[in-house]
Amino acid sequence: MRFSEIIGQHATKERLVQTVRENRISHAQLFLGPEGSGTLALALAYAQFINCTGRAADNTDSCGTCPSCRKYELLIHPDLHFIYPVATTREVDKKPVSKDFVRLWRELVLERKGYFNLPMWYKKIQVENKQGIINADDCNELIRILSYKAYEAEYKVMVIWMVEKLFHAAAPKLLKILEEPPDKTLFLLVSEESGQIITTILSRTQLEKIPRLGEEDLQQALINNYGYELKDARRATLLAEGNLIEALDHLSNPDSGEFFNLFRQWMRLCYTVKIEPLNEWISTASKMGRERQKGFFAFSLCGIRECFIYHYRPKELKLEGEDKEFVQRFSPRVTHKNINEFYSLLNQCIFHIERNANPTLVFMDTSLQVARLLRNP
Ligand SMILES: [Zn+2]
Repeated sequence: MRFSEIIGQHATKERLVQTVRENRISHAQLFLGPEGSGTLALALAYAQFINCTGRAADNTDSCGTCPSCRKYELLIHPDLHFIYPVATTREVDKKPVSKDFVRLWRELVLERKGYFNLPMWYKKIQVENKQGIINADDCNELIRILSYKAYEAEYKVMVIWMVEKLFHAAAPKLLKILEEPPDKTLFLLVSEESGQIITTILSRTQLEKIPRLGEEDLQQALINNYGYELKDARRATLLAEGNLIEALDHLSNPDSGEFFNLFRQWMRLCYTVKIEPLNEWISTASKMGRERQKGFFAFSLCGIRECFIYHYRPKELKLEGEDKEFVQRFSPRVTHKNINEFYSLLNQCIFHIERNANPTLVFMDTSLQVARLLRNP
């Protein structure tokens, strides 16, 4: 993977390139960032860049064509190793370790260009109902691998994905090797959350904090890399809050386009308080599945946010057609006086739907409260 294939994260890329140029590559680094921000992709591009033999001193990306890059691109370089959470499966029914799943790992990383989450990985290795861990056997395997010299590269690279899943009994082994690392070995740890294990690891690694993707970067990537149209990309960006995985999820889910129509109808009906059509709308909305209802309320939060932002920064609106017109006309109804109440109201709806509340009652009650808020901007 090359830096040029990675979405956004310009400042991080620059910083990483700089460490190589100035010859101050830290032997253990923790790429900590939220889901869908590109942590794994960045770690892979960094490792490829470090080991590229075809780049000039002033290059800011790996060449992509030298023998090292070619092996890195296929994830088959003999000095590139991976550890990730695993569990027993039908094929691997005892003592599972990462190398048992390496073929599936390569497939998923290449398929998704490094952007995927734990549930997707569990699905890939068919352990959907179990929790994977990074176990002590895997840590022993890691120590064994690292006791050998590098085959052909200057650096051996050990990528540990989702290091927060490190089993507590296995942690001391990893911590020890991080403290006394073998020569010319690079640990690139990837994590989504700064939990307890991460705190102990933090003191032994250099932290590379990866932010959420910027809206503009995400939207451009959906259009340029994934071939979506501007209006769809815009909607998905609104919903995804800088998470590429979530944005792609929305786009592959036909509901997301529908949600804006539903949202527009709902807001208009609440504002005009026409009871009969509102009742009809509620009866349709109540028939959606619970997941879709939750999705709809989450979308409504984004819709409200757009109206609020437009009120203050109209130039930032990037919607088209009916959606745009709606936000322009509706924004005076959403202000700093009622935005907080909108947020807590809609979040409560998600909370109630998750706990199996009667959806008709939730929609009815919420509609009346939305009507009140819209009339008191
Ligand atoms: Zn190269």
